[in-house]
Amino acid sequence: MKEQQLMVALRIRPLNEAEAEEGAALVAHRVGEQRVVLTDPSKDPDDILQANRSREKTFVFDMGFDHRATQEVYVSTTKSLIGGVISGYNATIFAYGPTGAGKTYVMLGTDCEPGIYIRTLDDLFKALEAATEEMDYTVSMSYLEIYNEVIRDLLNPSSGFLDVREDPRGRIHIVGITEVSTTNAQEITQLSTKGNKQRAQEPTAANKMSSRSHTVLQVTVTQKSRRKAIGEEVRIGKLFMVDLAGSERATQTRNQGKRMKEGAHINRSLLALGNCINALSERGGSWAQFVNFRDSKLTHLLKGSLGGNSRTVMIAHISPASTSFEESRTTLIYACRAKNIKTQVKCNLRNVSYHIDQYTSIITDLRREIERLKARVKNQEKEKSAVSSDLGDLQAERYQGSAAHSGQVMNALRAQLMGAFREQMEMCHSPMEPENTNIELCVDTCRHLLTIIE
Ligand code: ADP
Ligand code: MG
Repeated sequence: MKEQQLMVALRIRPLNEAEAEEGAALVAHRVGEQRVVLTDPSKDPDDILQANRSREKTFVFDMGFDHRATQEVYVSTTKSLIGGVISGYNATIFAYGPTGAGKTYVMLGTDCEPGIYIRTLDDLFKALEAATEEMDYTVSMSYLEIYNEVIRDLLNPSSGFLDVREDPRGRIHIVGITEVSTTNAQEITQLSTKGNKQRAQEPTAANKMSSRSHTVLQVTVTQKSRRKAIGEEVRIGKLFMVDLAGSERATQTRNQGKRMKEGAHINRSLLALGNCINALSERGGSWAQFVNFRDSKLTHLLKGSLGGNSRTVMIAHISPASTSFEESRTTLIYACRAKNIKTQVKCNLRNVSYHIDQYTSIITDLRREIERLKARVKNQEKEKSAVSSDLGDLQAERYQGSAAHSGQVMNALRAQLMGAFREQMEMCHSPMEPENTNIELCVDTCRHLLTIIE
């Protein structure tokens, strides 16, 4: 088990046309590799009493990207997780930020600029091809959406609402989700594109194509050695890629009615995520079991990724525009806090099955054992019948000898004795492996009882 810090990257997208038309100023800048400086546009730069310092706030991340960055952000944020997934470690990458800040762009991308999903899967399959000499791999994927606090299977949307369950080992399962086994990246890409079309999308004032749901693409890699050894090991690595819904408050998107209700739901999941991040970062992750992951579907699902066994990367997104200052500020604070989260990373090993040859020899051994036990039981039955006929004779003698005594007292004693005897014999019968000593003990007890009666 290895402790690992949650890695947080921050990406500032280019100013878009609408923002430029509005005459928005650039208020977010990357400085150096890791710093992001945010300038408060409401404070007057010409006010001599307000030093520049108070207008500017600096935030430090593991990595910073600005408008010059391409989709190659994948290389520095995600690529290094792939090796781990192949060898049985869990990994999670999630995009966080307000609507329109570039989350879907970074995760899914466009046809010409594919995002993290596709680049990760391409590299994953390349790595698997290179490694299949000694290993057998199977890859499966599922794709789901959390919309208004219900989970939908994007690979089979007609399946209705699905449930999150936790097994006694604390592993999270989505009951009834479609798991597709795939052999190449293209297939997964096609599936996720198809799934993506099923996402709940409706235009809002903030972003015409914004998504109102959280989506999770999960890829599971199972690795088995080709050399079939005894007590073979199977390694299972899971990769979660999460595109979160917008983190802005419902009021900021000027939503009403149905949209407003959705906003509240989205905020419930994100609020719960925020609470978890707060609790986890304050406690350094070691008290993860006391964090309320069950508060929302999203946090329940991400439980392992946030507080548990996963190498986790968050890419937070902001717009550089002065018009988005408040959202950018809250996103930067939130993302900074997430840096304090620690996860406990361990390899998912499962000891499985013996090879078929091994089973054959186990069966042969078991057959021999059965024969041996059968013979033993037979012997003991013979012995037992000999013992009980001896005792029968003995009792008859005693009975005759004591015939002079009161018949009533004698009968009572006899019944008592026979009862005790039967009980003892039953005890000898019942265990899986009857022992000769037990029978001897039982005969002794009967003899003693007879002596007492005498
Ligand atoms: P979100 O998923 O966070 O709501 P999107 O990823 O849909 O936002 O981005 C909103 C718009 O901005 C899209 O049209 C997208 O193509 C564009 N966009 C976002 N980030 C970038 C970027 N880094 N470079 C170029 N275009 C971007
Ligand atoms: Mg989106």
